[in-house]
Order: sequence, then structure tokens, then C-alpha cells
Amino acid sequence: MKKIILSIIVIVLIFFLIPIFLTKRFDAKSTMTNDVLSDNKNNIGDYFNSDNKYDYKEYEKVKLLHVKTGEIVELDLDEYLLGVVSSEMPASYEEEALKAQAVVARTYTIYKMKNKKHENADICDDPTCCQAWISKEERLEKWNEEDRQSNWEKIKKAVEETKGKVITYNGEIINAFFHSNSGGTTDTVSSVWGGENLPYLQSVTTSGEDSYSQYNSELELSKAEFINKIKEYHSDFNIDFTLQNQIEILSYTEGGRIEKIRIGNLELSGVEIRNIFSLKSARFTIEIGDENIKFKVIGYGHGVGMSQTGADSMAKKGSNYEDIIKHFYTGIEIKDI
Ligand SMILES: [Zn+2]
Repeated sequence: MKKIILSIIVIVLIFFLIPIFLTKRFDAKSTMTNDVLSDNKNNIGDYFNSDNKYDYKEYEKVKLLHVKTGEIVELDLDEYLLGVVSSEMPASYEEEALKAQAVVARTYTIYKMKNKKHENADICDDPTCCQAWISKEERLEKWNEEDRQSNWEKIKKAVEETKGKVITYNGEIINAFFHSNSGGTTDTVSSVWGGENLPYLQSVTTSGEDSYSQYNSELELSKAEFINKIKEYHSDFNIDFTLQNQIEILSYTEGGRIEKIRIGNLELSGVEIRNIFSLKSARFTIEIGDENIKFKVIGYGHGVGMSQTGADSMAKKGSNYEDIIKHFYTGIEIKDI
């Protein structure tokens, strides 16, 4: 009898304890999740206070196309810019460089809104087509936890403190090209892509870009790989490495990138070679070894407009965002839109 009573007590206890145990676990879990969420909300902050918004009138909302999903979302202009600045420039860069990036990105965005490339959207998130963008959640996730709050605040400050600011030339919004590292000197539109030059995009020189990791890169490949790669684009390509002068640089751009180069029987542009070999820039030299071909590349990007490492380098030496913008874009004004 005693045994039966004891068994009943144990069974009853189990019935009571299991739900309590489960609830506890569940509570613990949900509290943890809430903590993380509230941490994001309270400490890292929402986009902007609603009373702190700038009236952008016709440019208030950006229709952003997510290239991977084909989805189009509508965002407030400055909210969109947080995702651009934090994606396009490292948060570790100087505040004035981040501000310059915010103004350049805002200008570039409004230019795209006025000169649409995509059918139902103002701009897309593919950096090779329009301008990179990252969601706040994804951005925070990629930063170390200890840097999240300060990084986000820094980006927010750059966008907020330049709100309304855009770059104009003769009263018109400019096409504010930018790139990562100019290798010391930027270039004009026509020397990189041909066509008409834009008066505000001149070749300018900036010091200090050689101290960034984007400055130097190399690509080494076998002679066979080199030949096959060019043949993918030009099936009539041939080269005889036993002969002298098989690779000859024919001309340079104003900013010192390769404009025209002769390789074997072909005359190609520096930009085309950059594309064929996915080089970081068209500022390169080619070394012909016994077995291999080696590209030594300086700088990163097309080289037109603002150099981001150049902007950071200038900010480190005391320039503010207006100095930086005026250095990279010639004869422009920074105005409120
Ligand atoms: Zn695009």
C-alpha cells in the first residue's frame, strides 16, 4: 500500500513538475530573445526621430530594387542612406569621410531618381549597377557585438548631420561617381569609359592612399591561362611569347591608368583588361616571366570621382567633409535640396 501511495505521489509530482520545468525553460529562452531585441531597439536606436526629419519633398521616398529577389521596397531617403553609407564605407573611417560619403550617396541617389535606369525602381542594391545597400539587421550582424552600437551611431551621425545636403554644378545635381582607392590620382569620365567628360569630374591627386590595403594587389597566372582568358572575349587572339615586345602599353589616361595596350595581335583598353582579368583597377603593370604572367595593380575601382580611402586620408589630416567633396568634384557647390 505504502508503495502504491509513494508511486502516486511520484506520478503526481512528475505531472506538476514537467509543465513547470518546460515553462521555465521557455521563459528563459523568451527572455533571452527579448533581451537581444530590446538591446537592438533601446541601445542601437531606430532610424531617426520623426521630429528630426528633413523635408525632401519630391525625393522623400526611395524605391529600392533588391536585385537578388526582384523585390522593390520604399524607404525614407535618409533611412535608405544609412544602408548605403554603412555598406559602401567602413565604419572605422573618419567621421568627416563618412559625412562626405553620405552627401555623395545622397547626391548619387537623387541623380538616379531623376535619371531612372530601372523601370519601377529609383535605384538598385547592386554596387556594379547602382549603389550597394545593406539592411540594418544584416549590417549589425556583420559587426562585432562590441562595435555595433558605436558603429551604427557613427553612420547615423554622418547621415543626420548632413541631412538635406547635395552636390550641385551650375545648380544641377551632379552624377557623383565614387570608388574605393584611386591609387593617388583620379580620372575623367572619358578616359575611363570614353564619351563626353563632365566638367566637375577632373583628374585630381590625393596623398596617403598607399597606406590602405586596397592600394596594392597582384594577380599571377600561367601563360596558358592568360591566353585562354583573353580568348574567351576575343577568339582571334594570338601571342608568341618567344618574340620581343608582345605586350606594349600604348597610352595612359590623364590619371595614369592604362588607356590602350597592345597584347599580341590585339589592341585593348585598360578597362577591358581590368574586366577580363577582374583586376582591381586599370592602373597596372604586366610582368612576363618564364612560366607565368604577373599583374601588379595599384588602386581599387574605376578611379572617377571621390576616392573613399582618399577621403579618409584627407579627414585624418584635418579636412572636413566639404573640403573632401570640393577636392574630388571640381567647381561644385554643396547645397540644401
Ligand atoms: Zn541598378
